[in-house]
Amino acid sequence: MSTSRTRLCSDGPEFSRLVMGTWRLVDEPALNAKETLRLIEECVDLGITTFDEADIYGNYGSEEVFGKALNLNPSLKHKIEVVTKCGIKLISDKRLAHKVKHYDTTKEHIIASVENSLKVMDLDHIDLLLIHRPDPLMNPDEIAEAFMLLNEGGKVFHFGVSNFTVRQFELLQSRMSLPLVTNQVEASLLYRELMLDGTIDYLFQHKISPMAWSPFGGGALFSKDSQYQDLHQVLAELSQKYDGAGYDQLALAWLYYHPANLIPILGTKKIERIKAAAAAEEIKLSREEWFKLWSAAGGQIP
Ligand code: NAP
Repeated sequence: MSTSRTRLCSDGPEFSRLVMGTWRLVDEPALNAKETLRLIEECVDLGITTFDEADIYGNYGSEEVFGKALNLNPSLKHKIEVVTKCGIKLISDKRLAHKVKHYDTTKEHIIASVENSLKVMDLDHIDLLLIHRPDPLMNPDEIAEAFMLLNEGGKVFHFGVSNFTVRQFELLQSRMSLPLVTNQVEASLLYRELMLDGTIDYLFQHKISPMAWSPFGGGALFSKDSQYQDLHQVLAELSQKYDGAGYDQLALAWLYYHPANLIPILGTKKIERIKAAAAAEEIKLSREEWFKLWSAAGGQIP
């Protein structure tokens, strides 16, 4: 079964229901361009066509490897959707001008960052650009102007944000004529806040699909730490019921169950684990099982 497709909102892009993240691509053990190509090809074969990048991933190195991989098989560029982000400036040997880690959502920086992303990935457009984190100095008019220029120039097709509160999302949207098509937020069995703090409710109200980063809590889901004992016990029970489903598959099934159409972003670089994740769409939990996992993970049912 191939990964299904979904639209982020009525005027938004169509993405694969499961997205491949590239944050860890060049972390040890770093993948080279050829290995990254294999990863992209395997994902595309599984129907995972959307890739989540950021200018800063891998100390400003992930986009470059991703671009080199695509250039080994340029026909892939027509089969995938690329998300990237901007707005964070890290202290890095690749950016000697940065003396302090900070946020920069000025028009000048947004445009320069996109130009650089296009150059290093050797792409003619970005499908979706996100402001990576809320910037306390954010000027929504300036961001809106940068987005409009990038869109009119054909460089970026769609825009969104990441880690924004409802209020910050509303503020930016109020100054834009283009729609914000997603808020990419942390969401998993281990991080459920957005289901309680209004973030999901707001997006649901506006028929916008959230993208869910760290769906396995950055790997903590698999930790032997005693704090996860209750959760692991329920996951083990459900694994028996669902033909030996892995904890990763059940954690994805738990996210898929939510009616707000959460779109998980995978972080593993292991092809066998990506294949297992792609099969998780077939697992249909019951409502009681969803709450059993919620409780076992520490969620309250007052
Ligand atoms: P994650 O899937 O929660 O965590 C990935 C980690 O879990 C990796 O270390 C991986 O190790 C491990 N893992 C995955 N499956 C496993 C399994 N079956 N058994 C044991 N370990 C397993 O996701 P993430 O990497 O934290 O984040 C995913 C993506 O979200 C990123 O690549 C990035 O695109 C995006 N993101 C966005 C933001 C933002 O602020 N917008 C922040 C963080 C992340 P192996 O590689 O060994 O499998």
